[in-house]
Amino acid sequence: MKKIILLSAAILSFGMLSAQNTENQNIIEVTQLSEGIYRLFVDNRVAVLVQTGPDGALVVDAAYERTGEQLKEAISKLTDKPVKFLINTHLHGDHTGGNAALGKDVHIIAHPSVKDFLSQEQKRGETTLPAAPIHARPDICIEGKTTLSFNVENVEILPLTGGHTRGDLIVYFPSAKVLQVGDLLFAGYFPYVDVSNVGNPMVYLQNVEWILNNYPDDVKFVGGHGPVFNKQQMQEHLNALKETVDVMRNAKTSGMDAEKMKAGRILDKWENFGKFFITEDLWIDTVYPFL
Ligand SMILES: [Zn+2]
Ligand SMILES: [Zn+2]
Repeated sequence: MKKIILLSAAILSFGMLSAQNTENQNIIEVTQLSEGIYRLFVDNRVAVLVQTGPDGALVVDAAYERTGEQLKEAISKLTDKPVKFLINTHLHGDHTGGNAALGKDVHIIAHPSVKDFLSQEQKRGETTLPAAPIHARPDICIEGKTTLSFNVENVEILPLTGGHTRGDLIVYFPSAKVLQVGDLLFAGYFPYVDVSNVGNPMVYLQNVEWILNNYPDDVKFVGGHGPVFNKQQMQEHLNALKETVDVMRNAKTSGMDAEKMKAGRILDKWENFGKFFITEDLWIDTVYPFL
């Protein structure tokens, strides 16, 4: 308990802490969002949420396989209790890769598509990656809204599928007013939409709009990538993405195909949105078939 208080004090004083592995320079930046709720930003790329309290730790997303051990170590600095639950927001490796490292006694909650995906070999070009070990696959699969009472909080887990992937979940901590939306938020960037896993950019934007209409004004939105957003920032982000779709739709109506849109830099106003990994051109390729 003493350890937690000391750490909290340090975070409040300095805003964030860094746990650095000197071997491969992966950094985990820890920010306290609320009493007992921490955002761990792994390798300056992907967010993990950790809720700590008398029941143990609940973790949302596990980042990469290569950072699994460091994530486990960073969590152990926040609480001396074990991780009891891990929720995967969706199937991608930057959110599930660390599942195995968090241990064999952790219940993993996810949409059934995550279990299906992790239970199969994955082809990456010429390479075939093995299926995840059994203990790294979800053992609790949910397809409807589920409430988990843990650490004196009724944690709400809600499937909002078909936007980023076929099995996206969002996780809400109502007392803390923290909402983890997974990759339904690439804060400040064009989002990746995994069309090969039944993602759809139009459903994606509808789901973000649904989120904005269904949570209080003072909620903190934690996305899979990019900084934490408040509701106004989330709304402005959605408005911008919708505007890009309108620009592409108008261009298509006036006879432009995707190649002409790219050559004409019709999204150059949103140049900064292309600085993560979905560039202006990739966003056009994602949206164009759905216009
Ligand atoms: Zn993803
Ligand atoms: Zn991601």
